[in-house]
Amino acid sequence: MNTALPATAKDAPATERADADPASSLSFDQLPLAPATLANLQQLGYRQMTPIQAASLPPALAGHDLIAQAKTGSGKTAAFALCLLAKLNPRRFAVQALVLCPTRELADQVAQEIRRLARGADNIKVLTLCGGSTMRPQMSSLEHGAHVVVGTPGRIMDHLQRGSLDLAALDTLVLDEADRMLDMGFFDDIVTVAKACPRERQTLLFSATYPEGIASLSRAFLRQPQQITLLEQHEPAKIRQRFYEVTSDQRLAAVALLLKHYRPVSTLAFCNTRQQCRDLLEVLRAEGFVALALHGELEQRERDQVLVQFANRSCSVLVATDVAARGLDIDQLEAVINVDVTPDTEVHVHRIGRTGRVDQAGWAFSLVSGNQMARVDNIEKALGHEIEWHCLSELQTAPGKPLAPPMVTLLILGGRKEKIRPGDVLGALTGEAGFSKEQVGKINVTDSTTYVAVARGIAREALRKLSAGTLKGKKVKVHLLQDKAG
Ligand code: ADP
Ligand code: MG
Repeated sequence: MNTALPATAKDAPATERADADPASSLSFDQLPLAPATLANLQQLGYRQMTPIQAASLPPALAGHDLIAQAKTGSGKTAAFALCLLAKLNPRRFAVQALVLCPTRELADQVAQEIRRLARGADNIKVLTLCGGSTMRPQMSSLEHGAHVVVGTPGRIMDHLQRGSLDLAALDTLVLDEADRMLDMGFFDDIVTVAKACPRERQTLLFSATYPEGIASLSRAFLRQPQQITLLEQHEPAKIRQRFYEVTSDQRLAAVALLLKHYRPVSTLAFCNTRQQCRDLLEVLRAEGFVALALHGELEQRERDQVLVQFANRSCSVLVATDVAARGLDIDQLEAVINVDVTPDTEVHVHRIGRTGRVDQAGWAFSLVSGNQMARVDNIEKALGHEIEWHCLSELQTAPGKPLAPPMVTLLILGGRKEKIRPGDVLGALTGEAGFSKEQVGKINVTDSTTYVAVARGIAREALRKLSAGTLKGKKVKVHLLQDKAG
């Protein structure tokens, strides 16, 4: 049986704000933004503001400092990005905005979103400065001038100490994922960086939760901030939760059963331990699923590869612990599976909030053993309504093909350093090679490699044609990224 996803609930933002006006429209048009920016938002498919954007953009664009709290996936990046971009002077080649992020990965995501949002404007240079890359190229990029810098606190401090980063022209300082930066012990670094910024500036603090440290941070250097909090609440119709009782030895096999029954294209499976991640990965691969795991032992490059493959739909299941999955932004996630229901209700709500993003519906499945029932009682109380129990015996394997991801990832050895842009790769595939646009998925260009997702059916041919042809006038090496179900 191939179960369809439930329809998306319309216009039911779970907003709670002291002075929110429920009648106000969510259209971007009412904001004081340049026409080119509005046109670009249309192009990006941002038809209306998300609740956190609707609550924070008006005061932010009016120049107020903000402390804004909303769950992961609620669109916080655009909330601060549109504000800092609106104030930029493209003709002034100086760092006018600095965004601090907890990790390189999040910094990359934020920089990408800022670049997308800046497409409507003149040439805006966005630079990421994070640890794990060598200093020298970063220093020379800084010499060439950047309008916006996105980076991790440690590396920004390094540049400040060496004098390679000058913040004298800064207008906007953003602390993104402030709670996570505090978790990681960046309090002092953040204060030091803030001290290196001009006093006359706007400071925007964004966070998914509001631990005690945030108040001290904001007292340290925000000016009469407006506080905006969106209660963590999901629209019930968007996320369909189902609970299954299992014995401990049924648990991992039950994950495979769920996948075969519901056939979600992309699933994030949460494990409570790293060992469980490894065990589940083994079970899923033995069953022929294309599954990858995200855990702390991966090198940065391996981690990037895993994320790229999952986000571009060439991996069906991503197996992860909470820590490893923190802050990931994955759109189009059809299902979340709690392989072990977590004892922490807040973590549960956060996990299932990964599905049913912005304007899509999603499934959340939880596997519960007899000794974990108390956890479900707590979740039920927090939800304020009864939960749905289902039996493993209802799950049927759909006849036909095993579940396989729609795309396959090709790895091209060559990237930004070779001046390769997404358009070049798309051009090569749709031009001479003769594929249609629909057969080409996400294209991620990094410094020295490029990942391109292509429809599963054309993978080998695309690989052959790309290897035979040229990119930017040069021959390139192309590989198929590992693929168990292929
Ligand atoms: P957060 O920082 O709150 O976790 P993100 O800023 O990463 O969330 O946004 C989550 C996703 O929603 C991103 O893929 C982003 O492109 C998308 N998004 C943001 N704002 C809108 C909007 N107004 N309409 C449609 N999609 C949006
Ligand atoms: Mg974010």
